[in-house]
Amino acid sequence: MRVEIVRIGLLFVMVAPLACQVDERVDPQRSRRDRPEAAAVRQVAMGLGAESWIKSINLEFDVVGRSGTGAYSIDNAPWDQLLDLDIGGAGATDLDGVGLNITSVKLLDGTPGGTPLLYTIASWLDPSIAPVFRRLSIEVPADPAYDEYNPQTLVVQVTWIFADQSGTPLRGFYDLGTSSYTYTWPYYCGNLFPCTMSPRFGSLYSMTLRNVPAGQTAIYPEGVVLGDPPSYMLAFAIGAYTTEPLGTTVPGGTTVNVYYLPGGKDDAIKGTKYLKNAFQYFENSLGTYRFGPTAGTVQVAHSAGGMEHHPFWHLSSIYLPSPEMNVHESAHGWYGNGVRIQCQEDFVLSEGTVSYLTAVALEAVGDASDPWVSKIWDRYKTRLDNVMSSGVAKIAWPGGGTTCDQYDVGANFTDIPYMKGAFFFRALAKRVGTPALISALSSFYWARVGTAAGMQDLLDHIKAATLYDPTTCANDWLKSISVPAYDTCP
Ligand SMILES: [Zn+2]
Repeated sequence: MRVEIVRIGLLFVMVAPLACQVDERVDPQRSRRDRPEAAAVRQVAMGLGAESWIKSINLEFDVVGRSGTGAYSIDNAPWDQLLDLDIGGAGATDLDGVGLNITSVKLLDGTPGGTPLLYTIASWLDPSIAPVFRRLSIEVPADPAYDEYNPQTLVVQVTWIFADQSGTPLRGFYDLGTSSYTYTWPYYCGNLFPCTMSPRFGSLYSMTLRNVPAGQTAIYPEGVVLGDPPSYMLAFAIGAYTTEPLGTTVPGGTTVNVYYLPGGKDDAIKGTKYLKNAFQYFENSLGTYRFGPTAGTVQVAHSAGGMEHHPFWHLSSIYLPSPEMNVHESAHGWYGNGVRIQCQEDFVLSEGTVSYLTAVALEAVGDASDPWVSKIWDRYKTRLDNVMSSGVAKIAWPGGGTTCDQYDVGANFTDIPYMKGAFFFRALAKRVGTPALISALSSFYWARVGTAAGMQDLLDHIKAATLYDPTTCANDWLKSISVPAYDTCP
């Protein structure tokens, strides 16, 4: 599978002995052309385990000119390396070549205009799912001042043109005239900016939008440095938005808003009636919110549900009036974005956890007589029954922690990880008590926020935190094709 190819490379990076970083070092004064073997060795060593070595990415988008500029800062500069970025996960033959068109790559080294860098663009086809993916490989030059005891920060600047992909599925930037938005999950960030598509990698991001059309407002985290989210969290939406304030959390101090399009006010008010208090519940029960002082729901004109683009997550107009969907997307600030998923198999760590947390939050802050609150588990049960009686694959945690990215979440996207995950956590809460489970989810968040984690990591943590071993219950709910006969973990 396409993703598999990428991940095999990353696994190799993780197991490579880091000691060769120093041992294999060659005289940096020599031309890089003289030592291709050294470059190959160091390319293996530069991944430094599960974290990206791209420490920050500053993105600028000209939304009229459809051009972008990214400044990629690399700490502990891996001199004489290839900086590999994904560009254009086109995903369908009709989109081949409609990803990014790279226009310039240079090193910002203080010289006027920067120093142009050599780069190549490779494409590959995965016949199993028929996409064409492209990768930009930039030759980062040897730094004559390199000193492993005093590492440099390099800034590589890439500029590109991005395309409007209206009329195609959700793979990049969409300009509807009266509004526009981005949609890049799960691996189409490369249609919007050069990125590392794996959800396990996080960087510090900042964004600026230029040339927003007159009469429209751009909703994105302007002036906020986003702390280590996965690349699919980045997004913007532009339209004739009205901002409806919902209040400020106590004591977190986060301002929660809803941003609606013309005609959307009634649905926005209905859907967000519990949002501020639920957000406050997450802050107070799980931990500090990581993605800025202002957050909220943004109505968008696609029909694909919700997308956890924190701090301004997107909701389709059809889901805007749903208190459940509004709270669900907000909860990804803690699981999915705050704690990233390690492998695509760990999707349940994001969606199962968030589906459970949504129910708990609505029950904690909502009106008990409101069907949105009182019937949430009934709705989840209907969803579980529906997806179980459908023809889709039934395992919520494919591989069960034994594989990583052998599974394509985009090609296997169903309600199974959402609903089996939610009922697993509910069964666990019935066994250990809801406060104990929420406490464990909080301590796991504090321990892992800003990093990637697998579902097995969470299970291990729950066992240590609650003294209950959830293995059997997790096997039955998450690794089995059936639904267990019990709703309390044994
Ligand atoms: Zn979700």
